[in-house]
Amino acid sequence: MKVVVLGAGVIGVTSAYELASDGHDVTVIERCEGVALETSFANGGQLSSDHGEPLAAPGVVAKALKWLGRTDAPLLFRLRLDPALWSWTLQFLSNSTEPKFWKNAERVLRLALYSRERMRETLKHETLAFDHQSKGILNVYQKPRELDHALENVRGLKELGSEQRVLDRKGCVALEPALGHSTLLIAGGIFTPRDESGDCYAFTKALAERCERRGVSFRFNTTVQGFHKEGWRVTSVETSQGPIEADVFVIALGSHSKTLLKGLDLNVPIYPAKGYSMTAPVADDAMAPNTSITSQAHKLVFSRMGGKLRVAGMLEFNGFDSVLDEKRARLVTTNALQLFPRAIEMNQAEYWTGLRPMTPDSVPILGRGKQENLILNTGHGMLGWTMAMGSARITADLVASHAPAINLEGLGWERFS
Ligand SMILES: Cc1cc2nc3c(=O)[nH]c(=O)nc-3n(C[C@H](O)[C@H](O)[C@H](O)COP(=O)(O)OP(=O)(O)OC[C@H]3O[C@@H](n4cnc5c(N)ncnc54)[C@H](O)[C@@H]3O)c2cc1C
Repeated sequence: MKVVVLGAGVIGVTSAYELASDGHDVTVIERCEGVALETSFANGGQLSSDHGEPLAAPGVVAKALKWLGRTDAPLLFRLRLDPALWSWTLQFLSNSTEPKFWKNAERVLRLALYSRERMRETLKHETLAFDHQSKGILNVYQKPRELDHALENVRGLKELGSEQRVLDRKGCVALEPALGHSTLLIAGGIFTPRDESGDCYAFTKALAERCERRGVSFRFNTTVQGFHKEGWRVTSVETSQGPIEADVFVIALGSHSKTLLKGLDLNVPIYPAKGYSMTAPVADDAMAPNTSITSQAHKLVFSRMGGKLRVAGMLEFNGFDSVLDEKRARLVTTNALQLFPRAIEMNQAEYWTGLRPMTPDSVPILGRGKQENLILNTGHGMLGWTMAMGSARITADLVASHAPAINLEGLGWERFS
């Protein structure tokens, strides 16, 4: 079958890989000049399948209100006249109840744990250089109250299949000795030993090369403008280089999916959430973490990428504004250095922003669209790389009309209709 994948981020490229592995004739359309140059470029680098907790959770509203208007807030809603933001926020609030949190956590974990299986299967067949580390992820809590609150969720998350180990301060430092130099209090942590980390851009680029070897054609510098339909089928996609026909179309346009899906009678609640990252050479190996870390004090994630340290965080709801605010960017470094003083060469730090494609329930939108030959693989929010390989396999299974290995209940666009 001829399949056109729209978007060459980590979601589009992994989809193309699985589709080509099944023997399809695959074309990927991308407006940038290469793969993974938007949100998949310099993300936090965590493959955190066991950390499948949705953002909409009891207590998040109180936190957001407390941070409202603060320029150092890790979660920031910029109040603006944007109906899409208001409607998204209302849906987000309705997902912040205890029962909805657990319903969404089950859906995220179902897909994230399957994705890890698929990632491991892929890496059995492909040797890809992406600073891959399989040392687990340590979630560090600074406030005893926040640790206690997190511990309340451990049992429920374990019942959903997540492996979590609770550590006291001593246990955290034994696992990651660099934490011994922290200027912040460490109340304790939760360690997920099966989680991994690496460089998402390097991974996507290497996998795209494997795609090309399998015959996938990438059409860069080509912008998708709309679709042509006939009855209940999409016949072609209109692009800046003319129309392209196919038997099946896969939507993997990240934060931009919503705009283009409107032309296909679908109104999906995907809203961009700006995040920042900082990458700098490690100055002193003993002071920088070797294990991937999530710090709850400032909602930052840390991943080692060879001789460099990547630190990422901040969630800012302010439309498609991806401008790098110097103050907020430097805050990432300042906060990171409180946990790991003297860890990096600050004067060589490189900053970046990306727009996470967020759904109000933190569950991606995966499955058939309204047209029978349209597959949606989008809205992966804070965990796009983590959930990529499973989402890609499911996409290929749907194209082949095979039953996917996991239940797709609650993953489709229908839950918002
Ligand atoms: C600061 C930060 C930290 C993060 N940390 C992690 C982490 O540690 N672990 C994790 O799993 N996830 C993390 N994420 C989330 C993850 O990066 C995203 O979920 C993921 O990159 C989304 O991939 P995507 O392919 O859907 O989107 P993108 O990578 O944005 O790809 C979509 C592509 O579609 C293209 N496109 C858009 N419109 C058009 C058009 N009209 N025509 C043609 N092409 C178009 C874009 O150019 C883009 O290349 C983080 C995100 C941020 C911002």
